[in-house]
Amino acid sequence: MKKKAFKSESKRLLDLMINSIYTNKEIFLRELISNASDALDKLYYQSLTDKKLKVKREELEINITYDKENRILTIEDNGIGMTEEELEHNLGTIAQSGSLKFKENLSKQDKIDIIGQFGVGFYSAFMVSDCIEVTTKSATAKEKNGWHWISTGVDGYSIEECDKKTCGTKISLHLKPDTEDENYSQYLEEYELKELIKKYSDYIRYPIKMKVTKQVLKDQEKNEYEEKEEIETINSMIPLWKRNPKEVTEEDYNHFYMDKFNDFDKPLKVITTSVEGLCSYKGLLFIPSHAPYDFYTKDYEKGLSLYASGVLIMEKCSDLLPDYFSFVKGVVDTEDLSLNISREMLQKSKSLNLIAKNIESKIRKELETMLKEDRETYESFFNTFGMQLKYGVYDNYGRDKDKLQDLIMFYSSKREKLVTLKEYVEHMKEGQEKIYYATGNSISKIDSLPQVEQVKEKDYDILYLTDYIDEFVLSAIHEYEKKAFVNIEKDDLDLGTEEEKEETKKVNEENNEMLKEMQKTIEEVQEVRFTNKLKSHPVCLTSVGEISIEMQKVFEAMPNTPNMKAQTVLEINEKHPIVNKLKDLYQNDKETFEKYTKILYSEARMIAGLPIENPTEVSNLICDVIAK
Ligand code: ADP
Repeated sequence: MKKKAFKSESKRLLDLMINSIYTNKEIFLRELISNASDALDKLYYQSLTDKKLKVKREELEINITYDKENRILTIEDNGIGMTEEELEHNLGTIAQSGSLKFKENLSKQDKIDIIGQFGVGFYSAFMVSDCIEVTTKSATAKEKNGWHWISTGVDGYSIEECDKKTCGTKISLHLKPDTEDENYSQYLEEYELKELIKKYSDYIRYPIKMKVTKQVLKDQEKNEYEEKEEIETINSMIPLWKRNPKEVTEEDYNHFYMDKFNDFDKPLKVITTSVEGLCSYKGLLFIPSHAPYDFYTKDYEKGLSLYASGVLIMEKCSDLLPDYFSFVKGVVDTEDLSLNISREMLQKSKSLNLIAKNIESKIRKELETMLKEDRETYESFFNTFGMQLKYGVYDNYGRDKDKLQDLIMFYSSKREKLVTLKEYVEHMKEGQEKIYYATGNSISKIDSLPQVEQVKEKDYDILYLTDYIDEFVLSAIHEYEKKAFVNIEKDDLDLGTEEEKEETKKVNEENNEMLKEMQKTIEEVQEVRFTNKLKSHPVCLTSVGEISIEMQKVFEAMPNTPNMKAQTVLEINEKHPIVNKLKDLYQNDKETFEKYTKILYSEARMIAGLPIENPTEVSNLICDVIAK
């Protein structure tokens, strides 16, 4: 029998697991039972379309046995089983198994985090066992014999053919000897096992059977009892979503979520829904408290588990969730779909569409309520998944913006926290007509933009947009409660008094020739002009037209986009001492005047976060004027 090594990443994860980084070892039983239940689901579901598979649902079950003497705990199912190839693939490489998608940087991250993120799965059994045996026979492959897999942990595993009459999988755990800190023998105790099954696996829809000892009346007259062993179904078998929500505890929901969706953390929010009528269904939905590790990658698959009359018919039904709620996990159980509906038919099904619509509006209402009644939780939610809602606003040319615009938030300069557009408008100062915003990659960077000062001086609030998508979101919303959005780095803010405006106009006219000369030196800008909006700062770069400077940066970062550039204007503070210097140089020293112009333009680009095309030239220019 040839011993095979686990793939290297698997070895590292196993190592972590065995060295008991996960303190909650008892969850191994939940993981194995859940795998067994999946295997029963798979067999039953296949039997609906493959008539050759003779399966009686009432015969599908999970059996737990324990042998105290030899310290062996066994979990057996009569489900789908595995072929040699499947055994090799599923249990030989942790990276391959459904939920255990493995990622690099293992040692850097918090170890417990990793285990949780990837789901502990089958390998969690190594936390309590020093040897695991799996005997399995595939229900679909029609092989005569079964396969036996054995492993003592990191040093590898071996597989050989074996005798197995019935289909399904039997997992035997050779429990570790007890230590001072760990009592592994508890997993051989009837009482403990019963409690664990009830605690974590009560809702499993197949009977979990185990031998239990009962006191049975032997002689009524003498009132004598004797002990009798009996096989008993330990779990209640009622799926959580079918139970009356009043009878289900928060802990039940949390356990269910953590087990089913392989999360180490409890959900941020549980949503139960039960609808009778045009379409009838029960839903149990969860908003995770953190983003799954692959959430923002293309590997992430959205969807809810779809059950038809209690039978799982699709693990991730993506049609049940709009993209902007792709973070929601959960199950939907309906009696309006037939069990053997094909995927193609399912997509066209009216009932499914109706359920999806209902679910969308239920989630939205729950989020609206959370925003109103539990701000702290909502902000935590928004920090995690807000980006997804923002995508939703601008996706499909803003089709869903009305549904989502009151759920998104931006940082407010005045209140120094996240606010909704509604809150911004409610707190607008008298006389304020527009919603002001500024963009940049951090709050502090935006806060130091020269253009901010004038708006703040007016005591107007400014939304600070730090996500690259934010400005696109606002342009999709277009206006909010008839108030236009104004980028303070872009448009003419028109905040000065009539007098100030006159004054600026005059200065610009008087110096028209000089400003034209400057514009010739820096051809990329459309215009060079004086402004009264800069208060204490000397220069800024302002964009005019549809594309802002921040948008230009986003376009530049995207591959294959046509050259989308912002049209810019160099604005100079008319009250800054630099103005007199410029006037003087323009009259007396054209060469230095040109250098000053270039330096001022470079400063403005730097402030706007744009690259300096030729830093060496600029640095030489600065030194030239300093040395003069
Ligand atoms: P996960 O269940 O999250 O995919 P596991 O490590 O628990 O990861 O299991 C790996 C794979 O091994 C499963 O996806 C499944 O294909 C297979 N497997 C585990 N237990 C059983 C079982 N009792 N019967 C059939 N297949 C099983």
